[in-house]
Amino acid sequence: MKTPIISLHNVRQIFSGRQVLSIDKLDINHDDIIGLAGPNGSGKSTLLRILAFLDAPSSGTLSFMGAKTSTKPGAVHRQVTLLVQEPYLLKRTVHANVAYGLKVRKKSDITTKVHNALIEVGLDPESFSSRHWFELSGGEAQRVALAARLVLKPKVLLMDEPTASLDAKSATLIRQAALKARTNNGTSLVVASHDLDWLGKVSDRIIHLEHGSIVETS
Ligand code: ADP
Ligand code: MG
Repeated sequence: MKTPIISLHNVRQIFSGRQVLSIDKLDINHDDIIGLAGPNGSGKSTLLRILAFLDAPSSGTLSFMGAKTSTKPGAVHRQVTLLVQEPYLLKRTVHANVAYGLKVRKKSDITTKVHNALIEVGLDPESFSSRHWFELSGGEAQRVALAARLVLKPKVLLMDEPTASLDAKSATLIRQAALKARTNNGTSLVVASHDLDWLGKVSDRIIHLEHGSIVETS
């Protein structure tokens, strides 16, 4: 069996003396599409931030490609990425936002990669590359945030209610682009969403959280 990309073992998260997450075992494998379901406050975002190596758990072990790690190792940075509901964009142009994480020197290569990433999320590069962050609708901003992640060809794309506050068109484009990244690059997807119909259609498995614990996997 292939080494999981991310493994959690006996992971607990405690905030202000209260345990909000308790996961005995969870593996994210190459090519997985995992849905995360559960009521508000059940621990979805807490789990995603741990999987993204943004928060260290209070206890337990976290591995990346088979190597135990507590803090975000350099190698993980561009390979595991989290898209949140309210995207954070740099106060710069669309091009600058999408190019930001790229470690590529040649300007023409950067332009090509940014161009392709914008097309993947349904934004016309001709009209969007030079726009500023304040000239974008919420749905366009979220698509720019997704393009900035897809351009890195991540191993794992984590999404925390990525379409919850979006218009239908942007929501569809976000979903399509994420699925395409998985088909084309083998990017594993982990998606927290209240849209159980959609999760049911696309996920290999749905993890149901309640009070920070996995109560069911379907
Ligand atoms: P979900 O994403 O499923 O709505 P969260 O992971 O955001 O759930 O929250 C799980 C629990 O942890 C909630 O009870 C929430 O209030 C608590 N919590 C989340 N983040 C923090 C924090 N930074 N400090 C204290 N409590 C937190
Ligand atoms: Mg949440």
